[in-house]
Amino acid sequence: MQYRMLGKTGLTVSEVSFGGIPIIRLSVGEAVSVLHRAFDRGINFYDTANAYRDSEHKMGRAFRDRRDRVILATKTGRRDGAGALEHLENSLRMLETDYIDLYQLHQVAQEKDWEAAAAPGGALEVVRKAQAEGKVRHIGVTSHSLPMAIKLVRTGLFATVQFPFNFIEDAAKDELFPTALERGMGILAMKPFAGGVLDNASLVFKFLRQYPDAIPIPGFDSPQAVDEIVGLYAGPNSVGADDLALMDRYRAELGQRFCRRCEYCLPCPNGVAITGAMGYRVTVARLSPKGAVGFSGRFMDTVANCTQCGLCATRCPYELDIPAILKQHYDLYETHRALD
Ligand code: SF4
Ligand code: SF4
Repeated sequence: MQYRMLGKTGLTVSEVSFGGIPIIRLSVGEAVSVLHRAFDRGINFYDTANAYRDSEHKMGRAFRDRRDRVILATKTGRRDGAGALEHLENSLRMLETDYIDLYQLHQVAQEKDWEAAAAPGGALEVVRKAQAEGKVRHIGVTSHSLPMAIKLVRTGLFATVQFPFNFIEDAAKDELFPTALERGMGILAMKPFAGGVLDNASLVFKFLRQYPDAIPIPGFDSPQAVDEIVGLYAGPNSVGADDLALMDRYRAELGQRFCRRCEYCLPCPNGVAITGAMGYRVTVARLSPKGAVGFSGRFMDTVANCTQCGLCATRCPYELDIPAILKQHYDLYETHRALD
């Protein structure tokens, strides 16, 4: 395993690191086994979130006897100070630690999110106070909106930025990454498998290894998956004409149905949680039907209010047929709900 500096944080992180969503579907014992295999294979950076159900608890259990040898990152989606503080205190308890290496504002995609988080008494103020008290070492931000991510990077307030990056979502390489690097920020590449829609690990990491400044944080659900992906980092990388052609075929096939979670389609006049509901199939693939009903029910229930007006589709830069996809996902959700 090779290691890289994460911007100017002073943290040295493994060139492939660990995303904390898939361990949600494992038992505590299974999750600890996966986390220990990752640790044994040299992965030292672990990213989770308050929103990832019991993921923090599982990481806390796995690393309580080796806290000084891992770098822990987590996040809050709350924009108000009181809510962010509640999340932060809960993360410290769940992770069984008295400090968090990287605390991130989670999915700041809309202007109103940023205004609320940056307002006096908002989430950012609380997290900066926690940093002054030593509970948080560095502050980062995550987003799925490219213009917002670039804007957040330009504020100079964050040590890292986390953004989706994979061979069907590669826009970040053009402006976001260079802008972040100019400012000495660390870059975390979330969703290397595009949230579960890419199934060719070799191709996925051939692409990502061309951008070594962006640290990928794939999720792992078994010790074998850890071995497979760490193994893909052995030896030099080479991307041939066949690989590029195959990436193009994936792009062509997935382009018309893959939601990038950019949130340009919002808001829905009828309160439909479009982005959460558009990701339902991916959530099923990651968590199982039962898990997806529990995780996405709050989004999927809002789809019942969809009148198929089509307004959202006129705003989607990827020209997705959002009403049709929402209907398909809702039908699937109803089938899964009936399984309970
Ligand atoms: S449906 Fe389109 S506009 Fe809405 S989040 Fe997905 S990709 Fe973005
Ligand atoms: S089609 Fe449905 S989800 Fe889209 S804006 Fe209209 S009501 Fe909302």
